[in-house]
Amino acid sequence: MILPIYLYNHPVLRRPAQPVPSVNDEIISLAENMFETMRNANGIGLAANQVGQPHAMIVVDISDVEDGERTPPLCLLNPRIIAASDAMEEYEEGCLSVPGIREIVVRPAAVTVEYDDLELHHHRIEAEGLLARVLQHETDHLSGVYFFERISPMRRTLLKSKLKKLERGSGIECSYPFVHPLVQKITAP
Ligand code: ZN
Repeated sequence: MILPIYLYNHPVLRRPAQPVPSVNDEIISLAENMFETMRNANGIGLAANQVGQPHAMIVVDISDVEDGERTPPLCLLNPRIIAASDAMEEYEEGCLSVPGIREIVVRPAAVTVEYDDLELHHHRIEAEGLLARVLQHETDHLSGVYFFERISPMRRTLLKSKLKKLERGSGIECSYPFVHPLVQKITAP
């Protein structure tokens, strides 16, 4: 089922996520719905609070956009970045909750992430490149942080009017269903 995606500046996107202590049918169908929602919106990552859910849970699928290597689609419960490289990397990011805005963000080039899978098996992965990028962007969501909060104060100033416009809900162009505090479009166009 395709779920509507919550847009900036909905309060749910600021709420820190709650740990997922056990996996039940609700969590499993949420994972399936998050994959479907992400793919429908042509995204490569999605956090549960972006579909209005409080769980510390993200889905990632970069298999269509990465070159060479094939990373399988991943659902991560309780993801935690436990180490990051000193080496930093620039990459242009966008966000399904912030349509129409893209910014160059500087982040660690590689990260070590711990998480549980849907069978509650614990994993530790070393990620670099696009996977490291998406994991950092999505775990930020679980702490209520937007990607544009990691750019320079100068760039943020330049972004202010665009963000205000999005906050007012004017001129939102989304190809997917969304929830906005002021404007709702919960069905596909
Ligand atoms: Zn995002």
